[in-house]
Amino acid sequence: SRSLTIGLIPADGIGKEVIPAAQKIIEHVIDKVDFVNLDAGFELFQKTGVALPDETVEILKKCDGALFGAVSSPSHKVAGYSSPIVALRKKMDLYANVRPVSSAKGALGKPIDMLIIRENTECLYIKSERLEKDPKTGLQTAWADRRITEYASKRIAKMAFDMALVRAKNPTIHSKPKVTIVHKSNVLSVTDGLFRESCRAVAQNPEYKDVIVEEQLVDSMVYRMFREPEVFDVVVAPNLYGDIISDGAAALVGSLGVVASANVGDNFVIGEPVHGSAPDIAGKGISNPIAAIRSAAMLLDHLGYNAEATKIKVAVDTVLTEGKTLTPDLGGKATTEQVTSKVIANL
Ligand code: NAD
Ligand code: MN
Repeated sequence: SRSLTIGLIPADGIGKEVIPAAQKIIEHVIDKVDFVNLDAGFELFQKTGVALPDETVEILKKCDGALFGAVSSPSHKVAGYSSPIVALRKKMDLYANVRPVSSAKGALGKPIDMLIIRENTECLYIKSERLEKDPKTGLQTAWADRRITEYASKRIAKMAFDMALVRAKNPTIHSKPKVTIVHKSNVLSVTDGLFRESCRAVAQNPEYKDVIVEEQLVDSMVYRMFREPEVFDVVVAPNLYGDIISDGAAALVGSLGVVASANVGDNFVIGEPVHGSAPDIAGKGISNPIAAIRSAAMLLDHLGYNAEATKIKVAVDTVLTEGKTLTPDLGGKATTEQVTSKVIANL
């Protein structure tokens, strides 16, 4: 078979711990694979003044796919700095962030099998912000633009409905495929209104006639998700709501340390754990590698290595179900390395 080239961008904090773990897993299931280590991140910015070198993007484009760790984006403004992963998603038009959240017995003792599809290129993430100072009072006003386009909304909705049909081919906890459209168009009737209408328009396609369509205001979405997570199948949301919902959903399956994602475009895929750089545990060797390992499986799945991806998923599920080798976020005492070795032993 042909050889595969995967770009690795560990970036900051625990990204440097979990990406090497995912790399080991890929090496175990694929014979011919080359890895290219690429720089990006806030730590790189502090050293060089550049968070996402052009070289990283250029080399990435020659790879078959990539894995990204996490970045430590500070909460205060740093002149010249902008998050490299947000930039990469836009530069490579990775317009969907696909986030599966599932567990046979979630935190509430109820099964969860959700697929959150987060729009990845617009909404408030266009980062068009500005400050205005009142000349009389000297008090500031901060403004942000939020862009929602019919084009991006329909494109993400199509992905959600297509995924609902794909998922329905395998047994799930849902008797019929369903897409829940998340918005806040009771308040933001123009922006969220356009998102909602665009999703509704896509739903009209006869291809999707067997998919149940529901909608949920984002606040009540959070409420319902914590009370009856089992009712949600595919969930499609604008960028910011999708981000928030998926961190919440992670709590329902035990930890952010197990939730994977793939940034998907028409021509490229970057696997990426949903979690951030976790400065509170970075460097201790106890970060949970499972989110990154599952992201590697998602990447391989997208690249057509479906059997290998399934093998990884099953091995990870076995480690989680056995519950003997778990990192502290899941209540265990194991290290990143021990969990990684345990997954390998189950491959
Ligand atoms: P975080 O996801 O880094 O951490 C939240 C909590 O979850 C922490 O207690 C952390 O220890 C825990 N956690 C996360 N991943 C874990 C893992 N694999 N194993 C065990 N525990 C894990 O979110 P935060 O603390 O809000 O943000 C920290 C930094 O990460 C910030 O600078 C933020 O900008 C950045 N961030 C980056 C991304 C990204 O790269 N895509 C996403 C979210 C946050
Ligand atoms: Mn997030």
